[in-house]
Amino acid sequence: MTKRIYLTDCYAQAFNGTIEKIDGEKVYLDQTLFYPTGGGQEHDTGVLIQHGRECEVYKVKQEKGNVVHYVKNAEELNPGPIKGRINWDRRYGLMRHHTLLHVIGAVIYHRYEGLCTGNKIYPDRARIDFNNLPEIDDEEIADVFAEVNDIIQQNHPVTFEEVSREEAEHQSEYIKTAINLLPPHVKQVRLVRIGEVDTQACGGTHVKETREIGHAQFIKFVSKGKQNKRFELRAIRSLA
Ligand SMILES: [Zn+2]
Repeated sequence: MTKRIYLTDCYAQAFNGTIEKIDGEKVYLDQTLFYPTGGGQEHDTGVLIQHGRECEVYKVKQEKGNVVHYVKNAEELNPGPIKGRINWDRRYGLMRHHTLLHVIGAVIYHRYEGLCTGNKIYPDRARIDFNNLPEIDDEEIADVFAEVNDIIQQNHPVTFEEVSREEAEHQSEYIKTAINLLPPHVKQVRLVRIGEVDTQACGGTHVKETREIGHAQFIKFVSKGKQNKRFELRAIRSLA
């Protein structure tokens, strides 16, 4: 099992670790900052550095509890100590857009009791699907985004804690739904809180205060049927 340093320190950009195994272009480490694709969030990219040589990590996946780094020129690496560095601009964009989806998820839940059924997070945009949402008009969409931006500007802290599955199941209907989807062997759940606004079970990476998200901008609303409505959106910085 690879230790996932990004779960406890979302802001670290470089780390020391050990290569345990190399299998073709696949490199296995004892611990890593590289986020593997999952939960709708795209993987990190970056480099592994050994004896002054930098090898590019171009894809990262999960495989049976391990994080697998796909590395160009992996044959230049050997088992043993390594340094790693992630592409911070890309990761920070992913963190901002990931946290944005928690905020809009909370707003949609409180307004319509709509639950998130899927999402995709990129460094510069994101999309999120909800069930239980009516056809909503432009005015209402503008209203949703005004509320999202109000919450962002209130600058709520984003914190996390590990709790037992049992404890998480008793916290709220929303979390219960998400946790029911986890395999039965998962006993510990990571809860991510945005102040008093939202609590969700989540293993992704988030910013530490909502204002870091930037300004939420609506791109598109797509009705994909009665039980599936999609928002496409992005968070832009520099309006402050
Ligand atoms: Zn999350």
